[in-house]
Amino acid sequence: MTSWETKAAEMVEKQIQARGILSERVLDAMRAVPRHLFIPEELRESAWADCPLPIGEDQTISQPYMVARMTELLSPEEGDSVLEIGTGSGYQSAVLAAMGAVVTSIERIGSLAARARDTLASLGFAVNVIWADGRERVGCAEVFDGVVVTAATPAVEEWWTESLAPAGRLVAPVAVMSGGERLLLRLKNADASLTDTWLDYCRFVPLLGGTQTGSVDGACQ
Ligand code: SAH
Repeated sequence: MTSWETKAAEMVEKQIQARGILSERVLDAMRAVPRHLFIPEELRESAWADCPLPIGEDQTISQPYMVARMTELLSPEEGDSVLEIGTGSGYQSAVLAAMGAVVTSIERIGSLAARARDTLASLGFAVNVIWADGRERVGCAEVFDGVVVTAATPAVEEWWTESLAPAGRLVAPVAVMSGGERLLLRLKNADASLTDTWLDYCRFVPLLGGTQTGSVDGACQ
């Protein structure tokens, strides 16, 4: 039987390096995180496939390449604080944490937040998972070096940009047409002005308002 490390290395080589992701830190993190443990038991055989997969509650874990692409755009340094909106399975958080980022992640579905928290903790990733609507400002006036949104948003919420530190970066799939998004990379300059760059077209599950408890049970682990 092939070990998951071999499958992860193959995924990185064929799906991620082959498409031009060059950051060794991103590639190393994606080799190091056991993606299969963030996926429901019955789908685990497909964990390394080149596509998003269902994780329950009508939500998905993103395609590995999309996780790599957003992580490379964010490029967190060791010790940087990163806010994620849309925890889902917790996989994107784990990749960021594996790069040494200090991650806070917000999820609106309680059952997914609980499962992601369990999976991350069991793997030793100290991610702060918060059950809340990430469109609304959460908690204290914390400032983040990076913000990554992993659900399709009609617009960039003001508090996400306000929470960026100088030289901070935000990456978000912003709706640009019916059923389609485009990745926005927003840099906050030293004088607090913003530089926006529009990148890849993509497809994410929608950012929704409010919270719900959800019903999927148990940890993926
Ligand atoms: N990053 C995830 C994939 C996210 S799928 C991973 O690595 O698995 C998008 C997630 O965003 C879903 O779990 C969905 O419930 C969540 N979401 C949607 N709207 C939200 C909101 N307003 N606040 C927080 N989470 C939200």
